[in-house]
Amino acid sequence: MKTYRIASIPGDGIGPEVIGAGLDVLDALARRDGGFALDVKAFDYGSDYYRRHGVMMPDGALERLKAFDAIYFGAVGAPDIADHVTLWGLRLAICQGFDQYANVRPTRVLRGLDSPLRACAPADLDWVIVRENSEGEYAGQGGRSHRGHAEEVATEVAIFTRAGVARIMRFAFALAASRPRRHLTVVTKSNAQRHGMVLWDEVAAETARDFPEVTWDKMLVDAMTVRMVHAPASIDTVVATNLHADILSDLAAALAGSIGIAPTANVNPERNYPSMFEPIHGSAFDITGKGIANPVGAFWTASQMLEHLGEADAARRLMAAVERVTAAGIRTRDLGGDATTAEVTAAVIDAIEGGN
Ligand code: ATP
Ligand code: MG
Repeated sequence: MKTYRIASIPGDGIGPEVIGAGLDVLDALARRDGGFALDVKAFDYGSDYYRRHGVMMPDGALERLKAFDAIYFGAVGAPDIADHVTLWGLRLAICQGFDQYANVRPTRVLRGLDSPLRACAPADLDWVIVRENSEGEYAGQGGRSHRGHAEEVATEVAIFTRAGVARIMRFAFALAASRPRRHLTVVTKSNAQRHGMVLWDEVAAETARDFPEVTWDKMLVDAMTVRMVHAPASIDTVVATNLHADILSDLAAALAGSIGIAPTANVNPERNYPSMFEPIHGSAFDITGKGIANPVGAFWTASQMLEHLGEADAARRLMAAVERVTAAGIRTRDLGGDATTAEVTAAVIDAIEGGN
């Protein structure tokens, strides 16, 4: 039997609530399956750790995390600590430290759920957004001069390297090639941003030559938001920069029903380092501690993690159990229901134990 070593970092806000639920579901799945086991170690990195130690995670944390097969991550962010401190101190430090340059965000309308789009049958919305996760607008480059003075200037420099664009483009074309519709939309803003975004267009055209089986098109990010609302069925796989895909994937999650259901994989495709799996939602302090957080995002995330580990059957069974529960109308408040986190979790565990 294979045993996978999982580092769990529940983090802040509703992170521990949904990751706890996800681990219970994974546990039920491993027991039922019998073909694999998970050896989970929890790390208390996050905002509480910061309040005690002045850093989000200790020196040497990456070295410790490196020994794991995957990282199961909740959320970071707290009302009393600047967002850029929590984000850079933990999540981005792991993404960059482990070269997790491909951020993969599937979205579809789960059984029983509705898209808020009037003109959208559930089958019309089945997308994967690939987000460049290592450079671009979130490269952290720039600065401020004349701080506090009327003439203050702040620059936020987006960095795009040919190597960085080429590797995400190749990843996205290969992913599109593996999906039934084999279509990729390359999103940029190359009409207004004439350096990095034009490099994206050029590298896309070059990469496309190696994937003749994939049809592809280009779209400006503003027009893409309109297309997502008006023509969802025309979209399949999407690749976009760090900033653009961040925004598009929140929109995608909302169009599929709720930000509470969508997962993310931060992947190091070469597998030199562990990849990290997290729901796309944040710490959501407005609902923390109320027991109403939607755990479905954490479950879908767990399914993505199993697939990455090579347990594709278990990954499918997990999503089948989740969709039996959404189809039965057992939903949290963000999806219009009144079930608690614990009730949804118990129902998914029942569905797993009932076999599927
Ligand atoms: P971040 O700053 O990381 O984006 P956030 O605290 O702004 O985090 P988001 O995840 O962006 O939170 O979510 C915005 C709102 O959506 C939350 O305040 C919450 O009301 C709702 N929400 C997010 N995740 C969930 C969830 N899992 N279940 C239910 N509601 C959620
Ligand atoms: Mg937010």
